[in-house]
Amino acid sequence: MAVSRSENMRRIRSKNTAPELAVRKLLRELGHTGYRIHRKDLPGKPDIAFLGKRKAILVHGCFWHGHNCEEGARRPKSNEGYWSAKIVGNQLRDVAHAESLDALGWSVLTLWECELRDRATLIAKIAAFMSGP
Ligand SMILES: [Zn+2]
Repeated sequence: MAVSRSENMRRIRSKNTAPELAVRKLLRELGHTGYRIHRKDLPGKPDIAFLGKRKAILVHGCFWHGHNCEEGARRPKSNEGYWSAKIVGNQLRDVAHAESLDALGWSVLTLWECELRDRATLIAKIAAFMSGP
């Protein structure tokens, strides 16, 4: 079944996506609790924010955010120009939000949907980020 554009638009804006929930679950398992989600007072309403530590974790879907991987390179056959513009817009926003967070003294870790498959590497990445400055 084809997915309507309005359905896709809804998905773009959806929060609490499966990858986000998976990362939040893993953080809790690792003892990193006390994070806040989608804080409106922070640039880009980061998916996960540890306010005291000023650490934000962004969980990006590979397709929507144009990751440098197979899924990120995929483009729907129809309306290719529309999708490319949409994804480039998302990428530009992601960069702007990360820069704004950085300017406010925040550390930012971006996790990609495809990275969630390798649990050991993911845990190592989170551990390094959370114990870093
Ligand atoms: Zn990816």
